[in-house]
Amino acid sequence: MHKVQFTKTMLKGMAGFDLQVKSGNASIQEFLDAMNEFVEKAALPRLWPPNCSNCYGCNLCCHEPLPVTSIDVENICRALQIDFIESFKYLWVQVQGNVVDITLKRKKGHNCIFLNQEGICKIYSARPFLCQSFICSNVPESLNEIRSQIVNQGMDELVRKAIMAFKSRGKAIPVNLGSTRYVNLNDWPRNCFSDKKSYSKILLKNVLSSDLMRVLLL
Ligand code: SF4
Ligand code: SF4
Repeated sequence: MHKVQFTKTMLKGMAGFDLQVKSGNASIQEFLDAMNEFVEKAALPRLWPPNCSNCYGCNLCCHEPLPVTSIDVENICRALQIDFIESFKYLWVQVQGNVVDITLKRKKGHNCIFLNQEGICKIYSARPFLCQSFICSNVPESLNEIRSQIVNQGMDELVRKAIMAFKSRGKAIPVNLGSTRYVNLNDWPRNCFSDKKSYSKILLKNVLSSDLMRVLLL
């Protein structure tokens, strides 16, 4: 049995699903593996392409801004065989005051930079956490909360890592929109993503709030 379990159910009168964490030692990777398998097999109704119960041939969700984590960037670097500094060719960095957002770059027409001309993801097996945990279906509120808490901390670590990597080369973090004037390393403390190279090394209980873990473990 998976440490994270997904089950089809009715939510607010519509077909949807729920999830439960069955072990306090479940990792983010185990969550993703269970979700990928469930989404593949469950034939849930999709809300975006009408009358559809799978994702094959669809890329409607590959046009939205896509925030990334330090581990997403590790995975992209491994898939493309590039280093951390080079990965910024594919990232969009936006700064407002001391708030830094890092997303995947998008091409003209807002397509994700990794969507090829045939509408296929060029890095599918290394696609970011938010891509792997999204389904345009009737989803439980807990899934939205898991996604938001994981990405917030993972992006904080990406910003910390980027500030340090560029600083070691005597440069500021490259910014596509805004200015680094108020960006200060002290605002980005280490967290449970620090020094981790894969999602299998981070336990859900170390990244999610204790309130959310309690609900998920019920
Ligand atoms: S989750 Fe994305 S790819 Fe899958 S059906 Fe919905 S919009 Fe299309
Ligand atoms: S990384 Fe791949 S799956 Fe994710 S938005 Fe881009 S093309 Fe789509």
